[in-house]
Amino acid sequence: MKLLFQGGQVVSSGAVQQLDVLVNGEHIEAVAPNLSCPEAQVIDVRGKLLFPGFLDAHTHFDLDVCNTTTADDFYTGTRAALRGGTTTVIDFACPNKGETLSYGLQLWHEKADGKSACDYGFHMTIDDWNETIRSEIPKMLEAGIPTFKMYMTYPAMMIGDQDLFLAMEELHRYGAFAGVHCENAGVIDALIAQKKAAGETGPASHPATRPNALEAEAVGSLLRMAQVAGAPVMIVHLSTKESLEEVHAARARGQTVYVETCPQYLLLDRSLYENPDYSQAARFVCAPSLREEADREALWAALADGTIQTISTDHCSFTLAQKDAGKGDFTKIPGGLPGVETRGILIWSEGVAKGRITASQMCALLSETPAKLYGAYPQKGVIAPGSDADLVVLDPDAQGLLTAADQGANVDYCPYEGLKTSGVITQVYLRGQLAMDGGRLCAGSIGKYVFRSLSK
Ligand code: MN
Repeated sequence: MKLLFQGGQVVSSGAVQQLDVLVNGEHIEAVAPNLSCPEAQVIDVRGKLLFPGFLDAHTHFDLDVCNTTTADDFYTGTRAALRGGTTTVIDFACPNKGETLSYGLQLWHEKADGKSACDYGFHMTIDDWNETIRSEIPKMLEAGIPTFKMYMTYPAMMIGDQDLFLAMEELHRYGAFAGVHCENAGVIDALIAQKKAAGETGPASHPATRPNALEAEAVGSLLRMAQVAGAPVMIVHLSTKESLEEVHAARARGQTVYVETCPQYLLLDRSLYENPDYSQAARFVCAPSLREEADREALWAALADGTIQTISTDHCSFTLAQKDAGKGDFTKIPGGLPGVETRGILIWSEGVAKGRITASQMCALLSETPAKLYGAYPQKGVIAPGSDADLVVLDPDAQGLLTAADQGANVDYCPYEGLKTSGVITQVYLRGQLAMDGGRLCAGSIGKYVFRSLSK
């Protein structure tokens, strides 16, 4: 079965060009002007943009956390992903302390295999460091997992400086690297104890206990440890202008530092936590917490000048009933926002349509660079002969509306409720198959595990 996409504007990290795209089965066969192929079914995409399917390299589906389980599993989460143009997610496999990486991998395959509507891979969480785990690193590489995750906060997952350092060194020996959640744990705990002692137990205390400086302190600390380890590192969900200064300083020392941010840090303001209605405020609780205008401006500038390499979502969704667990104690609000569904159109509408970044930069941030960094390129991340035929059709002239009433995620709110978008993602193809058409999902659980290799 061949498909010929005619007349669209094909987006790459280097250009936006009017090109035809010929798809043969699951793969792209040709990309050129004025292609003809008599046996192909023609799909007219004049006036539309064609992006390579987006990768979301930061999701948490079917995760047991905060005494509950995320609202989205691999069934609903990957369907939400497809509705927003994301054809590949990389979720965090997360063994508990005391468990092996192999066990964590098996568990995540059980959660995802046969259920996923889009393609998927896993990063492996290292929350323990011992001889068993050290010896499992090459097994993870063989299993298609070249990327890892570590936490500098959260008691259940934080690893401590000594083990963080040893793990960075060991990963680097294989050419692998980790993404790290950077927040200072000890001072956050002290601030939380002060808020509780003062009886300030509502959601407004959440951002007050996680100030900008405590992200930047951890970023600076991580980057100094990475300097001694001689290892590259990825900072996930970077949210503050102060952390960017730490990144610039490390790069000036000659270090390799990758940076990810997320739409919520580009678009939402910390004043949302001050809403006196508990539910209205609690729904935005996530870590790092939402920041202020100056941070958002610095992050957009850092996207435009190349300081930040990728935009993922940290999709970690809970229903409003689940968020109610923190009434009377803000530290019990399960932390995380839905996002896998809205990232593509938000970055288009708020980023490209408003002139903050170009379409090619969006392609690099959402598709090409994550595919390269995370070892899925050129299978993913580019519209080129031989690549998977993962295609996002975006109509730049249509208008959309973000609302909980029209979303695929298993959540009863949308963080961007009522936001009108310039542009709409109208169709999504996964390996040559129409997977989403006008918001309707049409392909079932066809997602495959993406076997990734070390990035080059
Ligand atoms: Mn996360």
